[in-house]
Amino acid sequence: MFIAPQWENPSVYLARKEYDMNTEKRLVYMDHAATTATRPEVAAAMVPFMTSTFGNPSSLYDLAKVSRTAMDGAREEVAVALGADPEEIFFTSGGTESDNWAIKGIAFAKKAQGTHIITSVIEHHAVSHTCEWLKKQGFSVTYLPVDCFGMVNPADVEAAITPETILITVMMANNEVGTIQPIAEIGAIALKHGVLFHTDAVQAVGHIPVDVRAQNIDLLSLSSHKFHGPKGVGALYIRSGVELDSLIHGGAQERGQRAGTENVSGIVGMGLALSLAVKGMPENALRITALRKRLTEGLLAIPKTYLNGHPEKRLPNNVNVVFAFIEGESILLMLNRRGISASTGSACSSRSSEPSHVLTACGVPLEVVHGSLRLTLGEETTEADVSYTIDAVKEVVQRLRDMSPLTPPELRSQP
Ligand SMILES: *Cc1c(COP(=O)(O)O)cnc(C)c1O
Repeated sequence: MFIAPQWENPSVYLARKEYDMNTEKRLVYMDHAATTATRPEVAAAMVPFMTSTFGNPSSLYDLAKVSRTAMDGAREEVAVALGADPEEIFFTSGGTESDNWAIKGIAFAKKAQGTHIITSVIEHHAVSHTCEWLKKQGFSVTYLPVDCFGMVNPADVEAAITPETILITVMMANNEVGTIQPIAEIGAIALKHGVLFHTDAVQAVGHIPVDVRAQNIDLLSLSSHKFHGPKGVGALYIRSGVELDSLIHGGAQERGQRAGTENVSGIVGMGLALSLAVKGMPENALRITALRKRLTEGLLAIPKTYLNGHPEKRLPNNVNVVFAFIEGESILLMLNRRGISASTGSACSSRSSEPSHVLTACGVPLEVVHGSLRLTLGEETTEADVSYTIDAVKEVVQRLRDMSPLTPPELRSQP
């Protein structure tokens, strides 16, 4: 395992910028589902693989061997985190590539046996847009519905299986509302019917326990920058014996399955970040869940505010609420002015032109989807951050409601 002694302590705190030096604004990062800061000790561990020991792992001299050994260590660390074998871990450029590879790779490898794929309506676009593209190539796709908490029913998965079905792909935890899916149950159904099962576990890995054997998972996508590792690197777990086509051709790297000179420094960083995340998980999950509950209660105390996603079966760090009579985009801009980084499922926000497909699938009415706010906590989030955020959101929501002609008199500060 490639861990230097000084990095073994997971309680080493992340570098944290509390104030913007220029504006003297407090900074509160509440968007860990979008990306996370790379841990300083992870960044430090990466540097030598760009500077001193920069060798191409495919070369034959000693310098290259250093890179190879470090990559082997990272593969081992990722495998241990998933309960897999190192030979089952393939490095990629991130969650999007892993999803594309798993789904397209199975579709093309298995098309003589069948052309039907089962997925859900709440997948990340890396999965749903890939499925849409496959439809144009002659595959058929069933989109399973979810209940009002964003949960897929395993009975629906079973009912959707036909003799033509080659792949089931359902995410482990949702990136917008945080709902954790019944993955082991879906895995058992896939196994029983001899259908391969892929899960996009990008939001789950490093945050909640994952065990590919116990959960009957054949393929699993993960991404480093969602667990305090660097961006642009991820992995696909492929259960040994599962054959799929390559997505990227042109070299013998990753045992001939994924061409291109490996992102050695990124891979080393991901391995270390994941082993630290897994080590600190019991403690962090408890602490972050307690903060999340306080934040949720604080926000739900605002009148006409509702929680999205499952009340219990959700990621430790995810809060997603809707405020009636408010535009999510305006909340974001006003929170940004108070130094808070957050996200919304409203249209026109986050450079996307569609309202959240996840919230609409959960049955949230369109006009209410526009008033949604997602706050996702992380390892560096403090009690003070939560208090500051509750106060800021209360103030912003009241100001926006006072400004809106749609607000009923009882919700105005001066009726
Ligand atoms: C972030 C994310 C992805 C994409 O991962 P990248 O590494 O950013 O390409 C895919 N699926 C889910 C659920 C995500 O949250």
